[in-house]
Amino acid sequence: MKARVGILALQGAVHEHERILEGLRVEALRVRRAADLEGLSHLILPGGESTTIRLLLDLFEITEPLVERHRAGELALFGVCAGAILLGRESEQRPRRLGLLDVAFERNAFGRQLQSFRADVDFEDGSGSMPGTFIRAPRIGEIGDRARVLARHAGEAVAVRAPGLLACTFHPELAGSPDLHRIFLGKGIWGEIEAEALAGRSG
Ligand code: GLN
Repeated sequence: MKARVGILALQGAVHEHERILEGLRVEALRVRRAADLEGLSHLILPGGESTTIRLLLDLFEITEPLVERHRAGELALFGVCAGAILLGRESEQRPRRLGLLDVAFERNAFGRQLQSFRADVDFEDGSGSMPGTFIRAPRIGEIGDRARVLARHAGEAVAVRAPGLLACTFHPELAGSPDLHRIFLGKGIWGEIEAEALAGRSG
């Protein structure tokens, strides 16, 4: 089935994702209301301010259909920075999380805006590295059983994946790097980890 890709366009860095997707020859729809989710197979939740994005998701009644479509295996999600925080595990910090990705994200863990930085992140499978921009980035804490580290910076996990989910604490789109978008749109986004888990069980 052909991917139909959307970018949540309530707040945050939307245009830069469109540019990356254009480079991959993928057209993307800007999602601003629940009806826009219909027919989508992939949705990017961009970086921005997670409390604001959560507020707007609820206000425009997008939260519930988004979660339902993901749980039904119909909508893969890619959370960038604020978007990753939203996908993650429930926390005592605001905002309320969607709890779809069993990974803890601690907000603003690298300090203030001025402590933003550009750095290379290394893929866990040894396939190389990509540049990333960290802007008031969260830090990844506990990682649940179904999630896998995809990339690290200075030894710390900065990108993770799970069935139908991808999340990173940095902005790949600001550095112009399409690698994570390619992984997100690749065939394995729902399957690989399940297959791995099943193989582990039978072996
Ligand atoms: N600090 C923001 C938050 O906690 C995230 C920053 C970003 O998305 N670049 O929501």
